[in-house]
Amino acid sequence: MGSRVIIKAAEWTLSVETAEGAPLAIFSVVCMACGEESEAADNDRLPVEVWALKHTGLNPTHRQYQPKVLSFWRVDPAPGNPYLEMEARSSVRR
Ligand SMILES: [Zn+2]
Repeated sequence: MGSRVIIKAAEWTLSVETAEGAPLAIFSVVCMACGEESEAADNDRLPVEVWALKHTGLNPTHRQYQPKVLSFWRVDPAPGNPYLEMEARSSVRR
């Protein structure tokens, strides 16, 4: 007979972390020639792009970069998950 797939994780939802103070993304870049890394920038890649352009300006043979983008996820209980009610009750008491 056919198989039935049960996804236990369906009782949880995965989403992008939107808590106050949490950046949507943190950008940085590493020079592949010397390994120097830019400062990290929250939510804005422009300072990182400018860093790479300036870095090549100062070191004309350094022309390859590895950009890094960090983002944050969270998992919360979905409707039907007992944790959803438990957490709703405990937040009312606070
Ligand atoms: Zn470099």
